[in-house]
Amino acid sequence: MRIHHLNCGTMRPYGGRLVSGTGSLLATAEMICHCLLVEAGHGLVLVDTGYGTDDVRNPDASLTRSFRRMARPVLAEPETALRQVEHMGFRAEDVRDIVLTHLDLDHAGGLRDFPDARVHVLRSELEAARAARTSVERTRYPRAQWAHGPQWVTHDPRGDDWFGFTAVRELPGVAADIRLVPLTGHTVGHTGVAVRDGDGWLLHAGDAYFHHDEMHTAPSCPPALRYMQTRMETARGLRLANQDRLRELPARTRRPGHRVQRPRPGGAAGAPARPGGVAAMITTSGVEATDLPPRHHFR
Ligand SMILES: [Zn+2]
Repeated sequence: MRIHHLNCGTMRPYGGRLVSGTGSLLATAEMICHCLLVEAGHGLVLVDTGYGTDDVRNPDASLTRSFRRMARPVLAEPETALRQVEHMGFRAEDVRDIVLTHLDLDHAGGLRDFPDARVHVLRSELEAARAARTSVERTRYPRAQWAHGPQWVTHDPRGDDWFGFTAVRELPGVAADIRLVPLTGHTVGHTGVAVRDGDGWLLHAGDAYFHHDEMHTAPSCPPALRYMQTRMETARGLRLANQDRLRELPARTRRPGHRVQRPRPGGAAGAPARPGGVAAMITTSGVEATDLPPRHHFR
């Protein structure tokens, strides 16, 4: 089973090191939409979708001007999941399942490009998106991204144990060991997605944390990024508690000397892992990946 790392949407907000933690204050920072494409037994599974071709061609329909002013998404069609899937020689129909960490606009934009796929999401997240009323909620959950009526497969946060995370569920019909690891707090129904990768696991933590330094034993986060996280959170206590649990995760896997690794976009992720260990953990924003020029990451 191969796992591809895709950047499905670069953003270049102002703020330099206040966002990225490095470089000049006057520079633009760089954030990405880190998605995974899994070649599973039954077809392709896409974990998050970034921005889609409709966001690129007609951003007014889904991305508010205030969001675009703040995040400054590049909106380049070659970055969309659809175009990258095609570039690899697959077709849109080959993507049988999409697993979403949550329904924020920079995660669900590509849904319209894969109308035949089943879309796995926590039930509470879909309910929150459908119930969006305030301007913040309606900005983060633009209906245009899922007005076409995806084939939703909703999941409740229960299942078996995954390294001490008690609410996990296997995805029926998906011929790969992919599990939801609910990590609420950023949104009501936010979840991590764990993908079995050889002998170990790759955990896509979505927006459970924004910067890799937050996973250090002495966590830190650039101030503008910290502000963004606080502004977008739905439950601070849960969000921070989940970050604590994620920081403890390497120890829980009982792999002495292990450290959570930075992703290696464009290739298979992670170091050799002992059976059952967590080989790598990634966050969506990909601030940790900015040491590589994103245009050369994935093509
Ligand atoms: Zn988000």
